[in-house]
Amino acid sequence: MLDIIQLPVLENNYIYIIHEPESGDTAVIDPAVASPVLEILQQKKWSLTYLLNTHHHWDHVGANTELKQTTGCRVAASIVDQSRIPAVDKLLQDGEQLLLGGLSIEIIATPGHTLGHIVYYISAAQALFCGDTLFAMGCGRLFEGSAEQLWHSLQKLKALPKNTRVYCAHEYTQNNGQFALSVEPDNVYLQHRMERINQLRRNHLTTIPSSIEEELASNPFLREDSPNLQQHINMQGESALAIFTELRRLKDIF
Ligand code: ZN
Ligand code: FE
Repeated sequence: MLDIIQLPVLENNYIYIIHEPESGDTAVIDPAVASPVLEILQQKKWSLTYLLNTHHHWDHVGANTELKQTTGCRVAASIVDQSRIPAVDKLLQDGEQLLLGGLSIEIIATPGHTLGHIVYYISAAQALFCGDTLFAMGCGRLFEGSAEQLWHSLQKLKALPKNTRVYCAHEYTQNNGQFALSVEPDNVYLQHRMERINQLRRNHLTTIPSSIEEELASNPFLREDSPNLQQHINMQGESALAIFTELRRLKDIF
């Protein structure tokens, strides 16, 4: 069992608080700001065990120092980013497991958006906290890594069980979906998904989490083999990596 609380903050960021009821262990993932996190902790009478970062960007680590000072939590992040994550004191490597009570959290390195980006996968809870690597119908921009690196990272996430819930760090779904439709207009699953997304956003509701299954069926960055998509961007028969690279370029100027 795992309780998951989603906190919308700033323009479009999501902070996640996860709580393992048996042990009482609690972790916060990518806190941009401290006060809404502290409010929840107080309300629920939870004490913070871990602060987990996916990468070093300010909208993911903004509250590291304050939360560590206030709660005494440990701050865990990628060893690759040890010099640029505020207050970090536990360095994580690809493939390592971190325990939250009885729950095992697997660290998966996903370079691309940044070089040290990692994601947190909890198989027992069927949950993936993927920061800015995989978004609903999109993927992160290439700030530091190459298209090839991000493509390889996404192949790892593609291989997770289909029922895995995807908790990404931004509410970018509607814009991502508009891009997805522009490159794969005949995808009926995508059309229907966008209708649901538009309805949710009209009501100011979150579109997150999605699932690996939904992403496989409608995220263009996982769908290089779609004939409709290949045809629309004029890349029939090209390699998956070449198509991915072109999609990332097109999304940047969308
Ligand atoms: Zn970022
Ligand atoms: Fe971000």
